[in-house]
Amino acid sequence: MYLLCTMFLNRRNSQCDSMTPKTPTEPTESEQKTLESWRHLFESPKYKSDLNALPGIDEPVFGFEIEWDDLSEYGDLQVTFSENMEHTLACGNQVLKEQYSDRIMSTRPVIRVVNLPANRYYEMSELRMRDRSRLLSFDAIVVMTSPAIGWLKNSVYQCNDCESKWTINERLARPREKVTYCRKCLQEIQADLRSKKPKSFHKDPTDISMVVEENFYEDIQYLEVVSPQMLLDGKAENGEVYQVVVFDEYVGQFSRGDMLTINAEVAVDPLVNRDFIRDTRRMIFLKSHSIEEGLSNEANHSIDKSVLESLPPK
Ligand SMILES: [Zn+2]
Repeated sequence: MYLLCTMFLNRRNSQCDSMTPKTPTEPTESEQKTLESWRHLFESPKYKSDLNALPGIDEPVFGFEIEWDDLSEYGDLQVTFSENMEHTLACGNQVLKEQYSDRIMSTRPVIRVVNLPANRYYEMSELRMRDRSRLLSFDAIVVMTSPAIGWLKNSVYQCNDCESKWTINERLARPREKVTYCRKCLQEIQADLRSKKPKSFHKDPTDISMVVEENFYEDIQYLEVVSPQMLLDGKAENGEVYQVVVFDEYVGQFSRGDMLTINAEVAVDPLVNRDFIRDTRRMIFLKSHSIEEGLSNEANHSIDKSVLESLPPK
């Protein structure tokens, strides 16, 4: 039985989790380098003076903008950001939160990298599955906005026996992670079983509960957008749209007709109207990282807002 259990070990926390880990582990060497690079960036004259202006004070969450080009000046930040955006951001957000705490601000800051280079600009309607997980920059016009909702980003569990706590990073629009064992208790049982005189009875490592009041929820909202190109070639008029999910401080900020530059990760989701649960078909959607006002691609600057009136309201 206990051998089977090892297959279900709870995920290990790292220092760069978006929440303070309940059972801290040492950051790896590469994590330490990433944390150090972010520290250098935030302590540079440019960002230090930004921070000293106390941006977002009195707001619960604030998007702190960082220029893409600046990432290249601090260690391997630009490379690690490109290769492993989520983790690099988690490390950066941890350092930025420290900077806010040092300035006695309770705001939760989130890094928003802006002004992506021209080679990341992409026409939305040309997206294909091979683009999955790329961070690209899109010109987009908002057609519709959903109500604001929330999602369970991190769930917290506690062992009813040894009382250790740990955090699980959930995935958006996917089943909640299955958590069945206390890692610490299980390890103790395994160690005991390997010892010369194993006990005849072991406590139950599955006696755990979710600590509901410590779960972390993030605000999200879905936007339906079209590209200027889709307006020109009639795709938008035919009702074709792309779904963009926006987070935190962007929720509730946009309305129909807004022209935006959306820097987003290309993601895939099961079809909404699938007939059976294990349907393998997927649709592309955009998981926004940062959003800038106005269109970025020169060729799109002449788009007339009135074209929008011809679009079918969904
Ligand atoms: Zn335990």
